[in-house]
Amino acid sequence: MSRILRSSIKQLGEIKKGLQLQRSHNQLHTTRNIACISALPETHQMLQKTCRDFSNTELVPNAGKFDREKLYPDEQIKKMGELGVMAIAIPEEYGGPGLDYMAYAIAMEEICRGSASAGLIMAVNNLYLGAILAFGNEQQKKEFILPYTTGENIACFALSEPANGSDAGAASTTAVKKGDHFILNGTKCWITNGYQAKIGLVFATTDKSLKHKGITAFIVPMDTEGISLGKKEDKLGMRGSTTCQVIFEDCLVPKQNVLGQPGYGFKIAMKSLDGGRIGVAGQALGIAQASLELAVDYSQKRMAFGKPISKLQAIQQKIADMAIKIESARLLAWRAAWLKDNHHPFTKEASMAKLAASEAATWCSHQCIQILGGMGYVSDMPAERYYRDARVTEIYEGTSEIQRLVISSAILKEYVV
Ligand SMILES: Cc1cc2nc3c(=O)[nH]c(=O)nc-3n(C[C@H](O)[C@H](O)[C@H](O)COP(=O)(O)OP(=O)(O)OC[C@H]3O[C@@H](n4cnc5c(N)ncnc54)[C@H](O)[C@@H]3O)c2cc1C
Repeated sequence: MSRILRSSIKQLGEIKKGLQLQRSHNQLHTTRNIACISALPETHQMLQKTCRDFSNTELVPNAGKFDREKLYPDEQIKKMGELGVMAIAIPEEYGGPGLDYMAYAIAMEEICRGSASAGLIMAVNNLYLGAILAFGNEQQKKEFILPYTTGENIACFALSEPANGSDAGAASTTAVKKGDHFILNGTKCWITNGYQAKIGLVFATTDKSLKHKGITAFIVPMDTEGISLGKKEDKLGMRGSTTCQVIFEDCLVPKQNVLGQPGYGFKIAMKSLDGGRIGVAGQALGIAQASLELAVDYSQKRMAFGKPISKLQAIQQKIADMAIKIESARLLAWRAAWLKDNHHPFTKEASMAKLAASEAATWCSHQCIQILGGMGYVSDMPAERYYRDARVTEIYEGTSEIQRLVISSAILKEYVV
């Protein structure tokens, strides 16, 4: 897989030439990106181009179908595995392309610009892999990373429960030690990739009285006896990805599948979600960018009162505001990624990026519908899908309210008087 990204990177010179020459419907996006990524390393510019091409050919033409038919994009996910994006920050020795979180943010945006459902599947797979890479022992890394890097096998991340979403430390799925095993009982809900996942990172409590300090993370093959799945949730958006409950009934997990130490699970979840939020910011940016591009394109073609609506100041103001929200959220996302890649604290910045990008996505997709008028409201155009897909980015991996708590608590600590 890494071969594809790496050989693509070698062609950078040609691509840069191609980018400058390109004049088409994509001219606007191309111009935007040359201006926007000039500060990025060439590898990342190349990655963006590769992912954009993939997105344009494989995802843009099919995303409406995935959504309408609630179709898991099996073929495209495997191709994304070949491309390297299903395990983007995994080192080559474990089967990934060995890129960084800046690359992750960029790739995620491009994938979600084509299909946010495909991006969500990719996000959760990378979330699982990131946790195993960061907290796994050597044996666990060898066994539980490689098979999940290619898009053939998919992973899930099972933290939320019916009674505990934002308050994840109150997990009530239990893990009772018996000999060399733990016995898991309980229900996880809203689990992305639930229907496809071959492996899951599952958080359960060994002692509820310890609250979040009693939570342990378990690597659980999804074909383990005692696991069953609830119905596929009928969602507003992201309909090409599956979401369901995962139910554990006397499910035996060997003690060597504990990730990190017993009682360390909450920390693993929170640290993993810090990185995950950079991915959600990328998802939201992809949806927001797609909304802007569609709105600009339509406004230049749609005539009203004898001229294109792009000539109307009311429309121009919306386009300007959309672009500013996207550019500023993108810079926040890249900043959070840069901090992570350079081993600086990044919790607050990842929350800022996730919050700004998800609110930009819901706002921009709303404005996109407004600019398209009636055509924005029907499924002949993707605007209404962008609007539906955007909404959940303000909910999962920490709601907007929770992001504001994370950000304000960090700032209040920084400014101690
Ligand atoms: C499509 C989809 C996919 C998902 N995928 C996954 C997955 O793969 N794995 C997984 O583990 N989970 C997943 N989730 C779950 C998601 O992370 C939770 O829905 C989210 O954390 C919110 O939890 P909740 O739904 O229980 O809402 P609640 O926690 O009940 O919150 C309800 C409302 O109260 C607010 N609120 C709660 N606490 C506070 C507070 N302290 N201060 C201010 N406001 C607060 C919230 O912001 C929200 O507005 C997914 C959810 C969806 C919809």
